[in-house]
Amino acid sequence: MPFRLCLSKSSSFFNPIIPKSQISMANLSSLPTNHRTTSTTTTTTPRTRLRGVVFDMDGTLTVPVIDFLAMYKAVLGDDEYRRIKSENPSGIDILQQIENWSPDRQKKAYEIITDYERQGLDRLQIMPGAAELCGLLDSKKIRRGLITRNINDAVDLFHQRFGMKFSPALSREFRPCKPDPAPLLHICSIWEVEPNEVIMVGDSLKDDVACGKRAGAFTCLLDESGRYNAPEYANVDHKPDFKVSSLTEVYSLLERHFELVP
Ligand SMILES: [Mg+2]
Repeated sequence: MPFRLCLSKSSSFFNPIIPKSQISMANLSSLPTNHRTTSTTTTTTPRTRLRGVVFDMDGTLTVPVIDFLAMYKAVLGDDEYRRIKSENPSGIDILQQIENWSPDRQKKAYEIITDYERQGLDRLQIMPGAAELCGLLDSKKIRRGLITRNINDAVDLFHQRFGMKFSPALSREFRPCKPDPAPLLHICSIWEVEPNEVIMVGDSLKDDVACGKRAGAFTCLLDESGRYNAPEYANVDHKPDFKVSSLTEVYSLLERHFELVP
């Protein structure tokens, strides 16, 4: 269904009227101009072409099972955790925190992290709506990629259990990791598409949305519990273009806002 437009005489940019639902277009006005669509008609507008969707894995395509809070405290210790958290209210980048540690200390930290991730793998479950969403994207021949800060073994296991392949699927062996835009830009270059023809879907503002925005892609935040409505996230640097509370909302959102053409 095309956008309904609400154009004022003074503006050539559209203001989409979004149906009342869990879906929201969080901050269209902050989009780079190459994300905006101009229109000469008051009834329809060419929608932006979307050629690929890049997903986060843990907490997005899989049900969140890794206890990140316990992991951070185990790696950093309670006091250090509290100090770093107070400096980074929107979230801790644990891989960055340990990057400059001594090799011995870093090795122990990675052992702890890997242990938590392995426990998560034992309980891995596919997110409700993930298979249906991917099936619909496949029916439109829209590319599907994956970027995770987890290890490659976890991606392999996920692929086995999920039964559908994401390609490329970049794990943390690809450096630099999210929130750096490098993995997303790498996927775009392999797909031979522009970043603004791609949307990054993930459950982390500081990793997935930041990575997508820095790359110049669209972003969709999966916020199942509404935790990002908390005041501490009001003034973050990177705001998502869209927000959903379930993966089941994503396909209709994409159809409504984009032209899905490979
Ligand atoms: Mg995640």
